[in-house]
Parts: sequence; structure tokens; C-alpha cells
Amino acid sequence: MPPAPKQKTPPLEFYVNRAREMGALHAMIIGPEKVPTATWVRLKCQYGCGGYGKRLTCPPYSPPPERTRQLLDEYRSILLVHCDRGKAARKIVTKLEREAFLAGHYKAFALGCGPCGQCRTCNLEKGCAHPRQARPAMEACGIDVFATARAAGLPIDTVVERGDAQNHYSLLLIE
Ligand code: SF4
Repeated sequence: MPPAPKQKTPPLEFYVNRAREMGALHAMIIGPEKVPTATWVRLKCQYGCGGYGKRLTCPPYSPPPERTRQLLDEYRSILLVHCDRGKAARKIVTKLEREAFLAGHYKAFALGCGPCGQCRTCNLEKGCAHPRQARPAMEACGIDVFATARAAGLPIDTVVERGDAQNHYSLLLIE
């Protein structure tokens, strides 16, 4: 039998509470089966988004849907975070990824939302300038964010007018 780990990792509820403390409107643990991937998501990035190919965290650099599916299925517990600002949703999961890793959840990996905003111009030639903070968005990896939020009973609608409510989601793959 392999030796038992010496570290005592916190229960998953700890990360739910941490996300709420950090400003999330909602946070909950879900399974990978609640996070659908689809081919069409990639096309939305490729045709219609001005950010395509401009950030290392966006397609074509980010993993395609089929690889993301494999990735998600290597986990059984995923933290879903809901915020009213994209920057907050990104920041919470990247910070918690580090915390979770150091606490012994060695597989922890964050998926944010929207294009990476760390640098004015992305360092496409030389590699990422902020590898600790830069993580691909859920949609950049082919995740159907609308279906994920709705399966969790959380709000999301297409934004039609500038003043419409905004709902942003991010994930922390934990264990
Ligand atoms: S941190 Fe900078 S270099 Fe790295 S992906 Fe984001 S914008 Fe690009």
C-alpha cells in the first residue's frame, strides 16, 4: 500500500467558504458531469471574438473541448464560483488554486472567465509573463458556461444592453 499523506487537506467546504469570503455571490462543489463541453463553444471564440489568438489563455493556445473533457473527468470535485464581475471570478479561483495546492490538494487548477487581463499586450512570442495568475477561461477551453450555471440553478442570460445584469463564472478543479 502506498504511504498515507502527512498533510491534512481541508474539507471541500473550506474552499466554498473562502470563495464567499472573497466576494463570490455563490460558490458550490459540483461534479465533472455538471460541466459540459461542446465543439460549438470553440467556434464562438474563433468566429466572433476579437480576442481570438491574442492571449496565451485563449484559443488556439488553450485546450480544445475534447482535451478539456478528459481533464474534467480526472476530477471528482470542482468548485463553481459565481460573481457579478469577471475580474473577481478570475481572481478568486487563481488565489484559491495556490491555497489549495499548498494545503495538499496537489491537483488544484483554476479555469477563469474572459480573456486574461494581466498585461496590455500578451507575450505571445516569449511565453507568459505572469504564469501564476494567467489561467484559461472556461469558455476558452470549450466549456458550455451557460449550461454549467443553469445546471447548478444559478442565473445567466445573454447580455443585450450595457446595463443588463452580468453573471460571471469560474472553476477550481480540486480533487
Ligand atoms: S499574463 Fe500576460 S503574458 Fe500571460 S497570458 Fe496573460 S496577458 Fe498573456
